[in-house]
Amino acid sequence: MYGYQDLLTDIGRFQRANLRTGAIGRTVLGAPIPYVHIGSPRGGQAVVQAAIHAREHLTAALTVGLIGFTLKNFPRELRSCGIYFIPMVNIDGVRLAQEGADFIADPKRREHLRQINRVVAQPKNEKIYDGFLRTGKKKTADCNAAAIKTSIDPVHEKTGKDFAERLRNDSDRSGDFSLWKASARAADLNCNFPARWGMGAENVKEPAAESWPGPYPASEPETRALIDFTLKVRPKITISYHSKGREIYWRFHQAEPALSRDRRLAEALASATGYRLIDGDRNSAGGYKDWCVETLKIPAFTIEIADDRHAHPVPYSALPEESERNRGVPGIVLGYLQRMNKIKNP
Ligand SMILES: [Zn+2]
Repeated sequence: MYGYQDLLTDIGRFQRANLRTGAIGRTVLGAPIPYVHIGSPRGGQAVVQAAIHAREHLTAALTVGLIGFTLKNFPRELRSCGIYFIPMVNIDGVRLAQEGADFIADPKRREHLRQINRVVAQPKNEKIYDGFLRTGKKKTADCNAAAIKTSIDPVHEKTGKDFAERLRNDSDRSGDFSLWKASARAADLNCNFPARWGMGAENVKEPAAESWPGPYPASEPETRALIDFTLKVRPKITISYHSKGREIYWRFHQAEPALSRDRRLAEALASATGYRLIDGDRNSAGGYKDWCVETLKIPAFTIEIADDRHAHPVPYSALPEESERNRGVPGIVLGYLQRMNKIKNP
C-alpha cells in the first residue's frame, strides 16, 4: 500500500531532483498536504489531485508515478506551462484507512471515529450502508453474510479471500477503517466544496464514513486548503483521481461554449484511457471538479480508475494497468495548456 510515509519519501526525492515542492495547507490532525510542481511557473497551469477519498489511496500511487512519467516524456511542453500535483489531499483519512485509528492521539476523537465506523458497509454492500444511514435500521446478520460472500474480489481472488477471512474473524469491525472515505472529522471532503453544497443525491445528515458534506460549505481545513491553493495558482484545467469504475465525469451544469470545450477534452481523455465517458452529473454536488467547473469556469475532470469488479479498496495489483491507461492524460492536459498560451499570446 502507498501511505503518507511513502509520499514523504517521494517528496524528498523530488526535492533532491530540484522540483518545486511545498504544502497547500494542513489536515485536521495537522499533517502538511504536499504538492509537487513540474514545468514552468509561467504560462498556463494545471492541478492534478488525488486521494481526497481515503480508501482510494491507490490514486496517490498512480499520481506520483505520473510525475516522473510527465517529466521524462514532455520536456518541451513543460518549458511553457506547468502542472501542480497534489497526490494525497486526505492524508488523515488515508492513514485511518491503512492503519486504523491508533495513530490518532486524542482518545475522544479515536472513540468517536470508531463509533461511526461501526456501521461501515462491507465491499459491494453500499446499498445496505446507505439504507442503514437513511432509515436508521440495524444491519442484520444476513446482510453481513451477504457482504462477506460478495467481498471476494473476482479479479484478484486472493485479496478477496483474505479480506473475507478477516471479516469473519472480527465480529466488531470498528477497528477496520479500510473502507473509510471521509476525513478525520468524518466529513466527505469531495462533498464539502461550495458547489450546490448539500444537494448531492448521496448526501447524509451526520458525520459518516462517506457522503457527509460537513456542517457548511468549505467547513473542512483540507477543502479550504485546496480552494485557496487553486485560487492562488489559477489553473486552466484540473484532474481529480478517484476509484473505481473506469469512468470520466466532466459535467456540472455548464453552458455553451464551455460545454463543447469540456466535452471535447473529456472525449480525448476517454479515448486515451479507454474509460467510459459519463454524460451527466449523476446528481453529484460539492465536489472539487464541480467547484472548478461552476466557480472557476474551467474544464475539470474526475477520473475514476480501475475495473468496477474490484472490491474496495482496489488492490494494488491493478496499479500497473491503470498507470499505463493514464499515460495519455498529461499529454492532453499539456496540449490544452499550450493552446491556451497561444490564445493569450497570439
Ligand atoms: Zn472517490
